[in-house]
Amino acid sequence: MLCEMCGREVDSVTAVRVEGSILRVCAACAKFGQSVAPPGPATAARTSMEGPLSGGPVQLRFRTRRTEERDLFSELPALELSPDWFRRVRQARERLTWTPEELGKRLNEKKSVVLKIEAGTFRPSDALLRKIERLLKIRLTAEPATPES
Ligand SMILES: [Zn+2]
Repeated sequence: MLCEMCGREVDSVTAVRVEGSILRVCAACAKFGQSVAPPGPATAARTSMEGPLSGGPVQLRFRTRRTEERDLFSELPALELSPDWFRRVRQARERLTWTPEELGKRLNEKKSVVLKIEAGTFRPSDALLRKIERLLKIRLTAEPATPES
């Protein structure tokens, strides 16, 4: 069998997940990926020099959906926004009589980004949110004002 990573001919390969796809690689390359749990406990210690060549394609079972939705959620935004944060953005922008283009320019973003922000369909990074807050002199976070009971 050929290692799908380095291309070496080896007598056993391991299925590992590398950046969202499954590769069959040699032992040396296996450490670069995340091992995919084999169906049984029969992986290591099976130097099969004996026995008939039970060729045939290596069946890879992976039930996980391909995780190609990039890590949108791996950098979870830390700021908790007020429910109407995007409306606040638009109101503040309109108060300044800026067009979405103008706001975009000041934020170094495209107009389409501004429009998506104002529609609430795009959640900017915390850094960008802070920038918007500073620029428009508004508050977008839902930081509770010192709770009193
Ligand atoms: Zn290899």
